[in-house]
Amino acid sequence: MTARLRIGLGIDVHRLAAGRPCILGGVEIPSPVGPAGHSDGDAALHAVCDAVLGAAGLDDLGSLFPDDDPTLAGRASSGFCVDVLERTRRAGWSVQSIDIVIETEKPAIQPHRAAMRARIAALFGTEVDAVNVKGKSGEKVGPIGNGEALRATAVALLSQTREVG
Ligand code: MG
Repeated sequence: MTARLRIGLGIDVHRLAAGRPCILGGVEIPSPVGPAGHSDGDAALHAVCDAVLGAAGLDDLGSLFPDDDPTLAGRASSGFCVDVLERTRRAGWSVQSIDIVIETEKPAIQPHRAAMRARIAALFGTEVDAVNVKGKSGEKVGPIGNGEALRATAVALLSQTREVG
């Protein structure tokens, strides 16, 4: 029998604000600016969650964790990942691979790629080599290039672990 596979896509944009902690891919990065948001603003993990949910045919992150829910204020996005993985497994899917692009002028992503890959692999129950993180600059153009915002884009490949009836 051929394994059933599905791909999901997630995209997330956050404004960058002075004095905010900069947590991306579940890793805290030293930076004078960080992503603004109701939770910790981790756009990379938000994009991954939406990619995984999309592939599993489940809802999206904004529906599961509304940004006007006061109990979620300042919450670590790693907690969203744990919940998303649990829902995904219950629906009969496991995460095979994740690929992420983070577009930001600053901070530089490259020095933190290895830590992000390890963290995301641990959060989603995959091997480290099944997770990739790439940083791209905004080429000094538009809100990303001007350092006003960052954008994360992720794809996730899931395989079916069992028929859910
Ligand atoms: Mg977000």
